[in-house]
Amino acid sequence: MKLTTDKAVFSFYKGHEAVASIDAPATIDVATKDCFSNQLREPEDTIEGLNWDATNPATGPVFVNGAEPGDTLKVTINKIDVDEKGTVCALENEGTLGHIVSGNHVKIVHIEDGHAVFTPEIRIPVKPMIGVIGVAPADEAVGCGTPGHHGGNMDNTMVAEGATLYFPVATEGALFGLGDVHAVMGDGEIGVTGLEIPAEINLTIELIKGKAPEYPVLENEECFSIIVSKETVDEATVRATELMHDFLVERMDLASPDIIMLMSLVGDVEICQIVDPLKTVRFVFPKKYMTRAEF
Ligand code: CA
Ligand code: ZN
Repeated sequence: MKLTTDKAVFSFYKGHEAVASIDAPATIDVATKDCFSNQLREPEDTIEGLNWDATNPATGPVFVNGAEPGDTLKVTINKIDVDEKGTVCALENEGTLGHIVSGNHVKIVHIEDGHAVFTPEIRIPVKPMIGVIGVAPADEAVGCGTPGHHGGNMDNTMVAEGATLYFPVATEGALFGLGDVHAVMGDGEIGVTGLEIPAEINLTIELIKGKAPEYPVLENEECFSIIVSKETVDEATVRATELMHDFLVERMDLASPDIIMLMSLVGDVEICQIVDPLKTVRFVFPKKYMTRAEF
């Protein structure tokens, strides 16, 4: 099955009509527009001409048959193919340096041989990642620009090829969607944009009955990570640390103080993004030190 970009929503919401339904496990292809709905792709396109209501589209939502509140949606990102060019901005009063920007600046960056050609001299290896990915939250709609328990705009560089995400299902069918791919982005996304780019993603969706985590959990070859979004980086850091502690207590034969010592020695607090309505932090712990390295 392939989902096309005309099937998109601008919020995660239990009231949205699904554009497709699947029996998990299923492997599907999803095409995504960039976070500007492809409105800033040509030299003549301007921020001033932008329809902001059409930003941050998520392709979907997909109804997963049998998914109920309390379940876990397991999503593995097999492949991310990005378009031949992307968009990056420096915007007045946006991002951590918006106060020193006057006017709005937009740069179209072409991809050549797996590199984003920022200038002829500065060629950046692409590292595609998905900015917006998640399920419908339990209650009111959450706009695709905001992250949370349901996932959403986490802007996490680890949401990349080979990663598996575990989302808490909060509504019938989960209502999964994704968008906002970046060809490359630095942790923090300080200027409010990565290299925003249309993409095609191949992913596998599985359903785990029960076990819903409080916040999305990410697994890749090396580590488990818990992704928390709160008003401040400090609050997000504390919660991510608490949740990883509890996650490890269940999966290791160590008492709590030893888990804390180990987290202090080999666990990393990392920033996903600091520019969205809530800030997102991940706590990352290496699987090689875990007794039972499984979700
Ligand atoms: Ca984003
Ligand atoms: Zn983006």
